[in-house]
Amino acid sequence: MEVKNLLDCHCWHSGLLDALRHSDAEICRLIEDEFDRQQNTLQLVAAENQCSRAVLAALGSVLQNKTAEGPVARRLHGGCGVVDEVEQIAAQRAKQAFGARYANVQPHSGTQANQIVIAAVLQKGDKILSLPDEQGGHFSHGSAESLTGKLFTVENYFLDPESLLLDYETIRKKALQCRPKMIICGASFYPRAIDFEAFRRIADEAGAFLLADISHISSLVIAGAHQSPVDFAHFTTTSTYKCGGPRGGIILMGKDFDNEVVVGGKKTTFEKLLDAATFPGLQGTPYFNHIAAKAVFFKEAVDTEFRQRQFKIIDNAAVLADSLGKYGLSVITGGTDNHLVLVDVTGLKAGLTGDIAQKALEDCGVVVDKIDLPYQKTCRTAGIRVGTPIVTKRGMGEEEMVVAAGLVDKILRQLVITDAGYKIDRNFIADTRQIVETLCSKFGFAD
Ligand SMILES: *Cc1c(COP(=O)(O)O)cnc(C)c1O
Repeated sequence: MEVKNLLDCHCWHSGLLDALRHSDAEICRLIEDEFDRQQNTLQLVAAENQCSRAVLAALGSVLQNKTAEGPVARRLHGGCGVVDEVEQIAAQRAKQAFGARYANVQPHSGTQANQIVIAAVLQKGDKILSLPDEQGGHFSHGSAESLTGKLFTVENYFLDPESLLLDYETIRKKALQCRPKMIICGASFYPRAIDFEAFRRIADEAGAFLLADISHISSLVIAGAHQSPVDFAHFTTTSTYKCGGPRGGIILMGKDFDNEVVVGGKKTTFEKLLDAATFPGLQGTPYFNHIAAKAVFFKEAVDTEFRQRQFKIIDNAAVLADSLGKYGLSVITGGTDNHLVLVDVTGLKAGLTGDIAQKALEDCGVVVDKIDLPYQKTCRTAGIRVGTPIVTKRGMGEEEMVVAAGLVDKILRQLVITDAGYKIDRNFIADTRQIVETLCSKFGFAD
């Protein structure tokens, strides 16, 4: 009898790491190192998360082999029946998770989602009004080095210099004075709630489109732990990894989804413009393994446990901010409404910067980001940004946040600024790493 050479899908996918070890021990070892690093250090990077093994499985599947340009059911390639279904499910679940009327799950990243929206409705040279990146905006919102900054005219609104908060009346005045075609809101390091409804009022008064980029807070928005922009903004974008999904981006629309617009003298819809700006505008073939992983994530994100965890993330961040403040560290705006806390480290000792703080903390097993602080002129990266999504996912609570704040404080006080940068006592590093590892070992690498 003829032996058929067909493999079982589960069997074939199950030995992925073994296959890698066999064919490329070098990269396999680096993956093992990264797993150890993620498992045994205190992960306080606010722009990261840990996806589930189910999301990873979708990423590491044969869906990655499929090429198919264009929107669902209008692909340029053959054999697209399965991936059409995958993409439809992903879009459907994205709409459900965010309460949206339209979802485009094709963008390869949050940056690209922004570029697609901007390219869809603006003409070269049109004006964008946005928060500059040194105040918490994102480079894809029009910074000079990015494509958006090169192709469009960009004006900025600024945080209030005293409170470091968004001041909607000042933003309104700026919008009415400069008359942008698009206003962008949403930030990479803004620790307070954003009033998207106020932004929409301003956009309407100024005759502008409103783009809300919720990359940092999208999981809070899904859970109802932060106001949703979906029905206020014309367009909402987000990266999909900070909330706990795979790398990638999505574009959402709410009640404006079927608006008719006139672009270049022709009547069309936002949906048609976004589809064309995605392909062939800015992207080629979609990544179906990522789109499937987005679908898996959006299913997880409507779960009660996920929703409750988002509130816990905020509670943990509040305790972290409070404890850091009690240790005498300078917490920007005095606290937080979301998942992140900003600390100005320059007042702690002469010569200390966010860059040095980040390195010294990492030496001791505590991983954070350095950031520029608004209006801080003494140095670049005057601060650090700490966030609670990962530690919360691992099951840490308020008690551990107090411990984490104590570690940050102790490390920053222990380090000594030198001509070459900084130094810390070796024994102190070893002891602190041990404390961090013990803490991490109590909380498993969450699935
Ligand atoms: C992280 C972030 C992005 C970028 O997303 P990528 O997927 O990394 O390109 C865009 N906008 C904001 C506000 C972000 O914080």
